[in-house]
Amino acid sequence: MCKIGILLLDRDFEHDIYELIKAFYPEGDIHSLYEKDEAVYDIFFTVKKDNDNFVIKYETKDQKGVASAEVIRGADGDSSQETHEKLMDAHELRKANKDSLKYALYNVLVKLTGRTLPWGNLTGIRPAKLAMGMIESGMKNTEIAQEMRERYLVSAKKTALAITIANRERALLQDIDYEHGYSLYVGIPFCPSICLYCSFSSYPLKLWAKRVDEYLDALCLEIRETARMMKNYKLDTIYIGGGTPTTLEPYQLKRLLDQLGESFGFDGLVEFTIEAGRPDSITREKLETIKEFPVTRISVNPQTMNQDTLEIIGRRHTVAQTIEAFHLARELNYNNINMDLIVGLPGEDISKVKYTLEKVKELSPDSLTVHSLAVKRAARLNMFKDKYQEMTFENNQEIMDLTQQTAYSMEMGPYYLYRQKNMKGNFENVGYAKVDKAGIYNILIMEEKQPIIALGAGGSSKLVFDHGKRIERVENVKDVTSYLARIDEMIERKRTGIGTWL
Ligand code: SF4
Repeated sequence: MCKIGILLLDRDFEHDIYELIKAFYPEGDIHSLYEKDEAVYDIFFTVKKDNDNFVIKYETKDQKGVASAEVIRGADGDSSQETHEKLMDAHELRKANKDSLKYALYNVLVKLTGRTLPWGNLTGIRPAKLAMGMIESGMKNTEIAQEMRERYLVSAKKTALAITIANRERALLQDIDYEHGYSLYVGIPFCPSICLYCSFSSYPLKLWAKRVDEYLDALCLEIRETARMMKNYKLDTIYIGGGTPTTLEPYQLKRLLDQLGESFGFDGLVEFTIEAGRPDSITREKLETIKEFPVTRISVNPQTMNQDTLEIIGRRHTVAQTIEAFHLARELNYNNINMDLIVGLPGEDISKVKYTLEKVKELSPDSLTVHSLAVKRAARLNMFKDKYQEMTFENNQEIMDLTQQTAYSMEMGPYYLYRQKNMKGNFENVGYAKVDKAGIYNILIMEEKQPIIALGAGGSSKLVFDHGKRIERVENVKDVTSYLARIDEMIERKRTGIGTWL
């Protein structure tokens, strides 16, 4: 493992510097330092700011060098400016300096590694939001493309992807009321078994089965109280996720959906999604129960169609169960079914991904979400499974291209995109959908255009206000036992947050 030191003589942009270096060395052991220490590093960076420049020095066993970037200065102290304008200027100035520093650092890293990154020097998780912002500021697609390629050094392919998605998102969101509308997320934190790569807060149903009704008691209380808090707003979309919502028994699903209908009402909903997620949780009776409500979209998630990989990653269901659950949903007239896939799973080379895509294509879902396995999750897989340590976690542009071509061949186009930290190869997660089957909630959560109120253990509400310019979060505790014990406190937190910000 490559040991990297970063000596920060100026702590501005510390996080951005770290993230960009991490993007080039995802498995590197990176240390941010504020004074030189005695340790030996394979690569050592020094970043400081003098009057006119950011200066980046680097040193390895056999090479050293220096690069600099201009420090951008704003108009000096005109005290007649309005405070708000000054704040905007300060924000924009900071961004301009961050871009300048990252541009230079990226070029240093390209020189050191001999590699470029598909997303250039962008380290944030929402590249389509950047493109959307430029569209909203009145820029033409060609101008956005130029900016993304020249300022952020994004590859031509990813630039095209981000702009395509931003334009499609814009069209899909045209009927959403950003000022008075909101979305609701409801979390069911139980799963049939815990997948080894899982990064959500989920608990094995077996251990919790006896307390699920108690969980629903608390959740229904939170639903009732939240509906009162949001009575002056219009509910646009509901997303029930987790965990796996279909771990609930039919009577529990009915109770939850009845409560949502009673408290919020379903009139005027643009979309209502339930993640059926794990095929081993899906039964005819549960799907029939859900069908009694105006649910518009479900997910049946294979992740892979290779049985041996399912066993490695601890998803205790079979490929046959996935196919059966999908057919069952179609038989019951579900006409908007999403499937989630993960690329970069242990031992899966392009031929295995190809096999999965062929099997998925035979089923013909309405949308497909392709996730790239993040390094952290891959490491967790290894941690748990010593015997798989030698397996490769492969993901490359060829695999990403194959997923895209297959989606296109199923008459789907990309409609949302996000990146995760430490994604191997610096790739992205992409949602593809047929013309009228895109998941609006997915776009809303990425573009941060309206509040998303999250209920249940681990729910993180995102309060978007001040015409979309500001965001505050209100978190519920993740642990189910604490959620049950502290439900009144969770409700009060929400009440305070909503009362203060919305
Ligand atoms: S099904 Fe999803 S939420 Fe549940 S354990 Fe697996 S990865 Fe985690």
